[in-house]
Amino acid sequence: MSHSDLKAEIDARRDDLISLTQDLIRIPTLNPPGRNYREICTYLADRLGPQGFDIQLIRAEGAPADSDENPRWNIIARHEGSKPGECVHFNSHHDVVEVGHGWTVDPFGGEVKDGRVYGRGACDMKGGLAASIIAAEAFIAACPDYAGAIEISATADEESGGFGGVAYLAEKGHFDPDKVQHVIIPEPLNKDRICLGHRGVWWAEIETKGRIAHGSMPFLGDSAIRHMGAVLHQIETQLYPLLATKRTEMPVVPEGARQSTLNINSVHGGEPEQDPDYTGLPSPCVADRCRIILDRRFLIEEDIDEVKAEITRLLESVKAVRPNFEYEVRELFEVHPTMTEKDAPVVRSTAAAIERVLARQPDYVVSPGTYDQKHIDRIGRLKNCIAYGPGILDLAHQPDEWVGIQDMQDSALVMALVLQDLLT
Ligand SMILES: [Zn+2]
Repeated sequence: MSHSDLKAEIDARRDDLISLTQDLIRIPTLNPPGRNYREICTYLADRLGPQGFDIQLIRAEGAPADSDENPRWNIIARHEGSKPGECVHFNSHHDVVEVGHGWTVDPFGGEVKDGRVYGRGACDMKGGLAASIIAAEAFIAACPDYAGAIEISATADEESGGFGGVAYLAEKGHFDPDKVQHVIIPEPLNKDRICLGHRGVWWAEIETKGRIAHGSMPFLGDSAIRHMGAVLHQIETQLYPLLATKRTEMPVVPEGARQSTLNINSVHGGEPEQDPDYTGLPSPCVADRCRIILDRRFLIEEDIDEVKAEITRLLESVKAVRPNFEYEVRELFEVHPTMTEKDAPVVRSTAAAIERVLARQPDYVVSPGTYDQKHIDRIGRLKNCIAYGPGILDLAHQPDEWVGIQDMQDSALVMALVLQDLLT
């Protein structure tokens, strides 16, 4: 079987690729709250089952956000080759984020124009899911007596941490290295780029404490907002310059994320905000609580304990000079950085396939934010994993999201060549 045989199989499926992408977009798998997960899994089972895939529909019972109203359904479809060999697994999340404003097309219409398919989830990542399905079907048709197995999964809740999806499946052993040897996650990283991993995350809430009093006599109270102001001043003058010096060897894109970063997601202090239609005035009080939420992104060169200690030291330095300063830190969420080696088999195979299809060397990148690779690495203990798929990352979560049809075809051919390389 040659490159051109596989290309012919992919090209012959162009209309199928388009209508499959449209069908997936037309099932609005909004997260939150996690709608229509069962419907999309059933749709995929109905497509893949009759082609000889073994189907497992798995509900992540007891996972965060799983409920009878919005159950967290996942699907794993497995196709066995004619002899033993390794397993290549394509993992896509089937959930999409809210629609938001500013659309000029129906977000769940799957409209095709100018060589693109439009809709929420078109690039992130139903186009990638469709491309991986077409790649597998084309490869099986061209090479029915291959060795090993192909798995295609569509999983829940990636957009909200993946706990009802890949994390659950990894905990149940579905990504154990003795079962699955290669994983490709077709997230929209562009068809000529291989994403090796992502930075780490630590979210924490910091609260400063004060004492409530009448706003006309603030000296009788103690303002938690002023205390937080001192914290923010330290962050601005000490922490941000320090973070800018922490550079990484990880090839993170965009370039601005090739260092430690910090976002202050929110600030809340004093009286709660009223509804916009409330017509009264606020009342005069000294704020007795103020909270911020930090989103710290860290590097593979950094230790998470040091990331946390940095914040504790900063708060202690404020406490040392500020009377009555009291604080609390609540940790919300953490993810360790992960990066697959460039000479891992799935990386080498994908790089060679990109060169054949696109006649250029791939770019190796690392994502500034996390995706489901964290669970495959940390829980599944599987290191041979990348993200590779069609679509332009910047379009994800935006209005008028789209995926290019030629990009889907090209990356489907890359994926089929990877199957050929690893399974024949
Ligand atoms: Zn995604």
